[in-house]
Amino acid sequence: MVFGFGRKKKFEFSCSSVGMNCEFEIKGASSEQEVMEILKVHAKNAHNMSEIPQDVINKIKQNIRKV
Ligand SMILES: [Zn+2]
Repeated sequence: MVFGFGRKKKFEFSCSSVGMNCEFEIKGASSEQEVMEILKVHAKNAHNMSEIPQDVINKIKQNIRKV
């Protein structure tokens, strides 16, 4: 075991990193999956997207930061 327990990376994302005029940020998500789940809800509520288009999903994935 290289990293030990409790040192998992956290995932961060901010809406503005994909060109949205939006201050929304996700911090401390435990997986890329979790980020996407949060964003689905956010996109619907804040951006009126009932579904996130595939090209936007690709952009989002490229801009998720692991810290
Ligand atoms: Zn947003």
